[in-house]
Amino acid sequence: MRITVVGSINLDFVASAPSLPAAGETVTGATLARHPGGKGANQALAAQRLGAQVCMIGRVGRDGMAEEALALLLADDVDTGGVLTDAEAPTGVALIAVDPDGENQIVVAAGANHRVMPEQLPARIEGPLILQMELPVETVEAAVGRATDFVCVNLAPAAPVSDQLLRRADLIVVNESEAAFYGDLLHHGGGRVVVTLGARGAEMYQRGALIASATPPKVKAVDATGAGDCFVGAICVALLEGQSSEAALTFACAAGAIAATRPGAQPSLPTRDEVEEIITSS
Ligand code: ADP
Repeated sequence: MRITVVGSINLDFVASAPSLPAAGETVTGATLARHPGGKGANQALAAQRLGAQVCMIGRVGRDGMAEEALALLLADDVDTGGVLTDAEAPTGVALIAVDPDGENQIVVAAGANHRVMPEQLPARIEGPLILQMELPVETVEAAVGRATDFVCVNLAPAAPVSDQLLRRADLIVVNESEAAFYGDLLHHGGGRVVVTLGARGAEMYQRGALIASATPPKVKAVDATGAGDCFVGAICVALLEGQSSEAALTFACAAGAIAATRPGAQPSLPTRDEVEEIITSS
């Protein structure tokens, strides 16, 4: 199974701090970790680790952060031939502060991600396609227009999109706050719509009617960063394999739950064996 992901590539700087700062406040005593991230790259790696061959289209800067941002994609053999190096903008960065309860504050500097323009896309995108909303919306819209096969759009972060995009998507994935942002618009097309509910799992709708639901195995969550992206990669792999809606939701919930038990986004993404094992044992 060959999947194309058109999306963001970031380097995440995660400061684990005793508390989160209020506006104007400085919090000291934090420890820093750096992890590859970006919703696009996270979803690409999630699908690849679960058995797909993924081709990533995106953009990084000509700087020292690019290699680090791409390291885990390369280590897992994601095809990064569609990732261009931008001479002017830096690699995308997310500055993340996390407190001991796992609450976070995130500032994203999109950098090169915002310079992925429609001209960078192939005229036709063959095979299944996965998209998120961390690129210019015109690029997301253009990619959907050039897709010839299954299209999954993860509408995160929520922002206005065309009715055409919402109708074309075979699968839309949103969390609860994104679902509230789009409301009934999500259900205008004939595709499936999945709403993720954190530790409560996920529900799948078609034409506004609930058609499947699943709950994740009970886990000790330490960091939910990357859980939503893991879910997206996993549900696409499962549906494209021909699994039923119910089975695909169960698979994706289990994958997301494992990601929530480990720190960071990409380092936390599970393998196929790990997902199958937790499903069998729960
Ligand atoms: P997002 O991070 O995009 O807001 P959610 O919080 O809804 O997305 O999480 C996505 C999926 O990850 C959930 O449907 C669930 O399967 C899994 N997940 C997230 N948090 C937990 C948790 N605390 N325990 C178990 N599974 C979780």
